[in-house]
Amino acid sequence: MEHWPGVQVPLPAVSPMKVSLVDGCFLDFDPEDARCGGRRPRTVPDELYLRQARDLDLGDPEAIHAFASEFGPLGQPGWTELPLHALRNTPLPVEISVIQQSVLDRFEDPGVRAAHTAATRNLLPTERRRNADPTWTSRLFLHVNEVALHARVLRDATSLWAFLRNALTEDELTSGWQNPLIRPLPATVPDADYRARYQLVTILNAGLRPFQVHIRTPATAEEAAAPSYLWLGGHGSGDYGLYSVLCLQLANHIAEDAPLLRCSAEDCRRLFVRKLDPRYRKPGRRLRSPRSAAYCSNTCEDRQTQRNYREGRRKREAATEGSERP
Ligand SMILES: [Zn+2]
Repeated sequence: MEHWPGVQVPLPAVSPMKVSLVDGCFLDFDPEDARCGGRRPRTVPDELYLRQARDLDLGDPEAIHAFASEFGPLGQPGWTELPLHALRNTPLPVEISVIQQSVLDRFEDPGVRAAHTAATRNLLPTERRRNADPTWTSRLFLHVNEVALHARVLRDATSLWAFLRNALTEDELTSGWQNPLIRPLPATVPDADYRARYQLVTILNAGLRPFQVHIRTPATAEEAAAPSYLWLGGHGSGDYGLYSVLCLQLANHIAEDAPLLRCSAEDCRRLFVRKLDPRYRKPGRRLRSPRSAAYCSNTCEDRQTQRNYREGRRKREAATEGSERP
């Protein structure tokens, strides 16, 4: 993969907003928090796209809600970070229409519509207020399946890169494919590497769009004062959603040509770049030297060391028993 400009770009902080889970499937973001662009800026943990975002149980609305509370909304209303242009000549996959319909259904509730209109009226800059589709792009809620869709696209982008780095086989890539938006290119294109690069470019560049070189002028003093790292509900001042930030995290690994590894623990096998806390400290003990870099974490290394030890002991015992037999 080629990366331009070939250097890493600092990750902006994300600013999670207050969010509640409604009807077991909608993430409702607090309008006041959205107005001021979130209240608790936090740095994005290392390898978030490889770890928490990849571990997240996408069938569990509670887990998705917890993730959104901790890191922010993965995805924007209007799906502006997804490679929708890739669908140009293909019919909308059923899964996608179902998600879109569930969003539109929620607007059918007059109470939701009224509350929503009141909440968003003050959030949108005048120009956006005039032009924005009032239901689809400027809402303050996400269906959990929209979050899941973004997470799946991001996971597939990660898998494509893993395949290109020889950390996944073509079979693993195809059988583990998760998102219904971008399908693997037809096998009539014989070069699997080319197909993978093409898809990765399609997905990642759409997510990276907010980070292109650009200038902007704040429309109002209030907008100028607002933090610039949050973007949900058409807030005019910031363009960086969590999904885009995670695309940048992946792009930064591509820029540094980082090796992508598989955790050596038999029960983990996680893709990772760097072990979390490569040094090790047992409570009350001093720092030990760096440990094996083949594991994604010390916990995994400890577990596997134990397993190897027990396995070795079993083998030794079996050998001893065998030799003692007449
Ligand atoms: Zn591991």
